[in-house]
Amino acid sequence: MAAKLGYDDTPFLPNSRFRVHDDDRPKPPVVRPATPSMPNGAAGQPPSDAVILFSGKNLDNWVDSKDSEPAQWKVEHGYMEVVPGTGSIQTKETFGDCQLHVEWAAPTEIVGTSQGRGNSGVFLMGQYEIQVLDCYDNPTYADGVTAGIYGQWPPLANACRKPGEWQVYDIIWEAPRFEGDKLVRPAFVTVLFNGVVVQNHTQLIGPTTFRDTAGYTAHPSQGPLMLQDHANPVRFRNIWYRKLGDNSL
Ligand code: MG
Repeated sequence: MAAKLGYDDTPFLPNSRFRVHDDDRPKPPVVRPATPSMPNGAAGQPPSDAVILFSGKNLDNWVDSKDSEPAQWKVEHGYMEVVPGTGSIQTKETFGDCQLHVEWAAPTEIVGTSQGRGNSGVFLMGQYEIQVLDCYDNPTYADGVTAGIYGQWPPLANACRKPGEWQVYDIIWEAPRFEGDKLVRPAFVTVLFNGVVVQNHTQLIGPTTFRDTAGYTAHPSQGPLMLQDHANPVRFRNIWYRKLGDNSL
């Protein structure tokens, strides 16, 4: 018998089967934490319980979004790079609620303006876009700024690093809930961009559209992560997620 660490004579927490400091409450699992990445250097290490989607070696976990054929983007020096015209790519793996980590870098050579400069996108469940764009000294419309929920919600701040430097998205995603065809809870997202909170439990209106709005259409509780080919050679590295649990159980 393990030594008793908590209490069994304290009041019950509201709407809970556990008491305050309950000795029988499941203890949190031990996780070796992530190590940070350097903007002009090496990628960090994922936490020990992460599911690795891209470690810098190959695109074995990815397919072409349109036809599920092998992904055609370039892999070199520990990153993948959009090959314009080959199409968007997505994970073979599908998942729902998660903590997602993605690092990206806009092309060092500045080409284009506004939405034409270093454009890509992180599409949660293949249809909800967190915009990727080089917005360092590059004006564009507000709901198209880097780390915006494209076409819906601008980021709370523009925390862009210079083109060519590695930038970090840490995303907490709560998938929409459906009962049959009916939406019972919309999607919510929190985004830290280079350590700055830019989306704070923001409620999504629906899937991403261009020059339009769309409500939710029922879909499975899990979907792939998609990265966009928007004709700019944007780079990605160190992509992983952790499934989000429920500490009320
Ligand atoms: Mg985009």
